[in-house]
Amino acid sequence: MKVNILILPFYPEFLLNKTGREMEEKFYCKYCGSETKRVYLPVDSDWGVEYLYVCLNDECGYFQRGWDWMWNNYHVHASYRFMVNPFTGYQGPYPVTKENDIKNAYVAK
Ligand SMILES: [Zn+2]
Repeated sequence: MKVNILILPFYPEFLLNKTGREMEEKFYCKYCGSETKRVYLPVDSDWGVEYLYVCLNDECGYFQRGWDWMWNNYHVHASYRFMVNPFTGYQGPYPVTKENDIKNAYVAK
């Protein structure tokens, strides 16, 4: 590990390009099959990571069923999107509301 840190300044562009390609992870929603998008989190988020991969497909059955489920169980207008934490491999729901849909912010360009 120490060696990697030491050689980093000598070819930063090469490293950036290399990691840019190799770090391009792809995750697919297990409900609708859509490619998930990298979504950057607010710095004060509880997730403890910089970003997650989230299914942003509004037609996703998981997301669509979530509205009814949350309303029937909790009487709130909320749902969840399928998300993957690429750092831990954890897959689960990312809670959203109409007003605070993760789609409206933080999505990687
Ligand atoms: Zn989906």
